[in-house]
Amino acid sequence: MDAVRQRSLHETAVEQFQRAAELIDVEDRYRQILTHPKNEVIVNFPVQMDNGEWQVFRGYRIQHNNVLGPYKGGIRFHPDVDLDEVKALAAWMTFKCALVGIPLGGAKGGVTIDPNRHSQAELQRIVRRFTHSLGSNIGPDHDIPAPDVGTNSRMMDWIMDTFANLAGPANRHAVKGVVTGKSLVCGGSLGREEATGQGVLYSLRHWCGETGARLDELTIGIQGFGNVGGHFGRLAYEAGCRVLVVGDHTGTIRSEKGFDIPALWDWVGAKGGVAGFADSEFGIDAEDVDSNALFTTPVDVFVPAALENQITSARAGTLECRVILEAANGPTTPDAELILEARGVDVVPDILANAGGVIVSYFEWLQNKSARAWTAEDVDNRLRTTLWDANDQVVCAMKELGCSRREAAYVVALRRLVDVYDRRDIFP
Ligand code: NAD
Repeated sequence: MDAVRQRSLHETAVEQFQRAAELIDVEDRYRQILTHPKNEVIVNFPVQMDNGEWQVFRGYRIQHNNVLGPYKGGIRFHPDVDLDEVKALAAWMTFKCALVGIPLGGAKGGVTIDPNRHSQAELQRIVRRFTHSLGSNIGPDHDIPAPDVGTNSRMMDWIMDTFANLAGPANRHAVKGVVTGKSLVCGGSLGREEATGQGVLYSLRHWCGETGARLDELTIGIQGFGNVGGHFGRLAYEAGCRVLVVGDHTGTIRSEKGFDIPALWDWVGAKGGVAGFADSEFGIDAEDVDSNALFTTPVDVFVPAALENQITSARAGTLECRVILEAANGPTTPDAELILEARGVDVVPDILANAGGVIVSYFEWLQNKSARAWTAEDVDNRLRTTLWDANDQVVCAMKELGCSRREAAYVVALRRLVDVYDRRDIFP
């Protein structure tokens, strides 16, 4: 366990924010505002299961801040979802949107549920009933959910459809932007599915530019092979990187030469996890290893793309890598970060590394508002330039203040937020 009492995730988020606020002397009133969510919505809603029995689920929607624009953030379906976790995730969304300069605020939602234990029919009823329970707490100009762990475009389509039906016939189409990450046919954007993984790769390219490393010579370890980790792995493989170790909730596999990632992609798509791949006809050169091997196998780049608090002090001491790209939210504990810093391991923080998802979500929202679809090339160009610019600004702030990359990212975000508060002031 880290420290005497393990920090809660929200305490970690507050601590990260406070370190940056100290650096640029943020006024106390702004600190108070930004360390508390504006609204905390908790709903308990009943759903009938396939066997006829009823079950009550608990759902959350935490709206952290909307000074820059409507609340924005994903919805997580996971057994460990609780108020503290969603509060932290909502705060990180505020800083992420501010950092990359998009006019959106921060929010997050979740339901305490293991989606793997429910049929598609049950999941559909759960998603629709959760949407109904949230009611006018969400909306295309108010609070806009998106996918996160355990949710996908299918579920976003159900949210949109439920909300549109409740909005009445005259508003059915106007409210399409109530949620992003929808399927293409329901108003989604080209490039949204892979946007977060793509963004992680752009941040890696930027880091290569800073350090002189060659992308096609890098070896990689990935935790999580879902939406974010899977797309990142695929795109990194296409760029010439070799992925040597991958772990997820089903197992950990390693390959000295580097995996055949398209084969692993198909395997995980069909089986739901990496387990079994090493023994299959596609897993030539792959072996099953202990889950600790994920944190001890030497690689150039380590990409946590699963859940929070995965890089603990103990693991930070064994990781053999040059840089960590935080594709997941909150994967590194504050104590672990100090160890990594002392060991000279670069950390590209979550609010920068995984911002590609919310950037393309913003593009989807804009497309819905204008009822026009952008080309894949257009989406990708805008994603790249937005993230490149954010990475440049973080590097500038690091040099200006002599601080860590995470502190610099928060400083860039905070300056934008504080500037708006200074001009608008606080009403009444
Ligand atoms: P996902 O549900 O598609 O995938 C989650 C992955 O984590 C799966 O491969 C799963 O096997 C793995 N996993 C779960 N529990 C694990 C455990 N105990 N040990 C090892 N692996 C485990 O979710 P996702 O959308 O890819 O999200 C992953 C992370 O990225 C989360 O932190 C999420 O908040 C963050 N994120 C997602 C997006 C997005 O657009 N989906 C955007 C920004 C950040």
